[in-house]
Amino acid sequence: MTEKTVYELSSPGRPGVQFPDADVPSVELPAGFVRKDIPLPELSEVDVIRHYMHLSHLNYSVDEGFYPLGSCTMKYNPRVNEAMARLPGFAFSHPLQPIESIQGNLALMYNLQELLKEIAGFASVSLQPSAGAQGEFTGVTIIRAYHQSRRDTKRTKMLIPDSAHGTNPASSAMIGFEVVGIPTDARGNADLEALKAACDDTVAGIMLTNPNTLGLFDENILQVIDIVHKSGGLVYGDGANLNALLGIVRPGDLGIDVMHFNLHKTFSTPHGGGGPGSGPVGVCEALKEFLPGPLVAVIEEGDDEMPPLFGFYQPEKSIGRVKAFNGQFGMFVRAYTYIMMHGADGLRRVSELAVLNANYLLSKIRSAYKLPYDRVCMHEFVLEGIFPDVPDVHALDIAKRLMDYDFHPPTNYFPLIVHEALMIEPTETESIQTLDAFAEAMLAIAREAHEKPELLLTAPHKTPIRRLDEVKAAKDLVLCCWLPEKAE
Ligand SMILES: *Cc1c(COP(=O)(O)O)cnc(C)c1O
Repeated sequence: MTEKTVYELSSPGRPGVQFPDADVPSVELPAGFVRKDIPLPELSEVDVIRHYMHLSHLNYSVDEGFYPLGSCTMKYNPRVNEAMARLPGFAFSHPLQPIESIQGNLALMYNLQELLKEIAGFASVSLQPSAGAQGEFTGVTIIRAYHQSRRDTKRTKMLIPDSAHGTNPASSAMIGFEVVGIPTDARGNADLEALKAACDDTVAGIMLTNPNTLGLFDENILQVIDIVHKSGGLVYGDGANLNALLGIVRPGDLGIDVMHFNLHKTFSTPHGGGGPGSGPVGVCEALKEFLPGPLVAVIEEGDDEMPPLFGFYQPEKSIGRVKAFNGQFGMFVRAYTYIMMHGADGLRRVSELAVLNANYLLSKIRSAYKLPYDRVCMHEFVLEGIFPDVPDVHALDIAKRLMDYDFHPPTNYFPLIVHEALMIEPTETESIQTLDAFAEAMLAIAREAHEKPELLLTAPHKTPIRRLDEVKAAKDLVLCCWLPEKAE
C-alpha cells in the first residue's frame, strides 16, 4: 500500500465533522486570524479513522509480536497493570493535594520502596528518577557527594568496563568524572589485572552491569567489588539487567553500594515509545542520607484502630530533587501491581524462565552463528552477525531481514566489544512456539546469507520505507514532510 498523507487523501468539500446549527449570528473573523497558506485537508470521518489506523499498523510493538531487543527487556506488559493505574483514586490525584487526602498513593509508594529494598538488598530506595539513565546520574551524583562529605576530593575517576551500556560513561562524564575503561577478559568478565592496575586513591568508583551486556554473570564479581572497595571507591550497579536475578541474587548482598532499577524493564511498565520510564535508586546504609527526596515514610505509627500516616521527608544530606513532584506515579502503580501479582516465588520464576528462554534460544541457533563468549548465558546473549565466507553480509542485514519474517530485530552493533553484535533477549513472557519460530527464522536467514545474500542486502522487503539513514532521521527529524504545492 502506498503511504499517502491526509493532504493527498483530501477531497474538496468532503466534511469530517458535523457542527450543530449556529445559535448565534455568524461574523467574519478579523483579518489575520485565518492563515490561508495552511489549507486543511478535507476527509470524511471514516477516511480519517482508516488513515490513522493504517499508520498505527505500520508500527511494531510488543503487543504485536516478538521483540528480542537485547538489553531492553521488552516483556509483555500485563493489562492488569493498566487497569490498576487507571483507578480514579490513582489516576486523578494531584501531587499538590494535602497528604491526608493521598494516603493511598503514599502507602503504595512506601510499599514499593520497601519491596524494591527487599528485592535488591538495599537499605533505602528513592523512587524519583524517571529513567535508568537518570538513575545512573543520580547514583553517580550520590557517589560524588559521599566522597565530598569525607573531604576526599581527589577521587575524580570512574571505572567503566568496556562492556557497559553507553549511558554509563555518559552519566559519569556529565557529572565531571574522568571515565577510565576496564577491558573484558577472554571469558567475558571484567579484567581483574587491569582493574587492580587502575585502582588507586583517585578512583571514585566503578559502574558495573551484572549480568553484563554480553548476558554473562561476572564470575569474579565479589573480587571486583572487593578490589574497588579496598581502594576506597564505591560500586555502582547498573540494574537494567535485574530481570536475570530476581529472587536469586540480591545486588546489595554482593556489596554493590548504589543501583538503579528500570521499572520499565524488569517490572513490566511500558517503554519504547510507550514511556514514561522510571528508574528508582537503591543504596546501602552508608549512602542513605544522600538520596534524592522526597521519600515516603511513616510519620505516625498506626495501631489497631488507625492506619499509619504516611508523609514525605528529605534525607539529611540529600543531593536534592532530580524530578518534579514525586516521580512517575503511574509507573509505580504498574510496577507495584506486577510485583504483587507475582509474589516472591513468582518473581524468582520470572528470572528463571528469562534465563531458560535465552539459553533455549541460544541452543537452537548457535550452530549457525558465532558465539564469541561461549558460556551459559543469563537472560540474553550476543552473537556475531557475520559469516566468514560471506563477508558482504553484516549484522544490520540480518536484523533487517528478520523484519521480513515479522520479527523485531535484536539490538545490533552493541555491545561494542563484539564484532557485528546481535544481542538477543527473549524475556520470560515468550512461549516455546514463539522461540521456535524465531529460531527457524534465524536459521533460514543464515542459509539465505550463503545461498542468496542479495535477499539480506536488500531487506526489508515488506516495509513502506526500506533502509533509512537512522542517524539523520534522529538528528534531522522532519515531522511535516508535506508542503502545499500551490500556497496562496
Ligand atoms: C536500558 C539500559 C540503561 C538505561 O536505561 P533507560 O531507562 O533507557 O534510561 C542502562 N543500562 C543498561 C544496561 C540498559 O539496558
